[in-house]
Amino acid sequence: MTCTSHTALITGANKGIGLAIARQLGKAGYIVWLGCRDISRGEKAAHALRGDGIDARPVQLDVTDGASISNAVKTLQSEIGRLDILVNNAGLMFGSPPSLTEESIDEMQQMFNTNVLGVMRVTQAFLPLLRKSRAARIVMMSSGLSSLTDALDMRSETWTVGYGGYCASKTALNMLTVKLAKELDREGIKVNAVDPGLTSTDMTGNGLGHSPEEGARPALALATIHANGPTAGFYACTSSGEIVQKSW
Ligand code: NAP
Repeated sequence: MTCTSHTALITGANKGIGLAIARQLGKAGYIVWLGCRDISRGEKAAHALRGDGIDARPVQLDVTDGASISNAVKTLQSEIGRLDILVNNAGLMFGSPPSLTEESIDEMQQMFNTNVLGVMRVTQAFLPLLRKSRAARIVMMSSGLSSLTDALDMRSETWTVGYGGYCASKTALNMLTVKLAKELDREGIKVNAVDPGLTSTDMTGNGLGHSPEEGARPALALATIHANGPTAGFYACTSSGEIVQKSW
């Protein structure tokens, strides 16, 4: 089946920044597919969005599980036949490790499996549907902590931040963003990374940070970027709401 409405898939959309991205894209008129590893949480989130008049549809999607991803592709293929926006938002971070010299290799492996390889599994699997769009957009949910420039800058607020495994997984994601953007440029598919800024969600213990709605803004901007807009870039939102380029 082919759908005339524009459609978006957001991974890890049952809560936090992913749910806020789904709400904002839904309010902008997109059919939003909520990729959720626990379908009951996805159904609950979709139900809440539908209450706001959004066409929200849950789909079971665990980014570490190839079978789950291929079933999700089949679902979207049969229900809409095309995908306009893919937001690779699902992510994993463990509590503060004592130091990189003692960080659990098992936890690092799980973060790379979700934050890096998970993104590539999902992107590769959904590319045939994205290629059916006239202006497909892929957004990678990176982090300010991925920036090598900031990590080496004593004036940066991330200078003293640990979380080596998590930061490295997002730096790896940045490189894949650039490589993918260059490969897909000739097809008109734009691929950009975004930094949501420190956002109060379960990942950050619901502590300091702005709201998920604010954290969703850079992703929304790059997901809906026009034909002359950038690709292979890294973007964040200032406190005044302006989208600005970040240093890798
Ligand atoms: P969150 O509230 O913990 O949400 C993370 C989402 O990812 C949840 O929906 C979670 O599903 C999902 N997820 C985790 N592993 C998954 C898997 N294997 N398959 C599918 N979904 C999976 O965190 P958040 O703060 O909204 O984070 C969203 C993204 O922003 C992440 O990529 C994170 O690294 C990035 N980020 C966040 C901040 C921040 O300050 N919060 C800053 C920079 C970047 P479950 O509910 O099933 O666990």
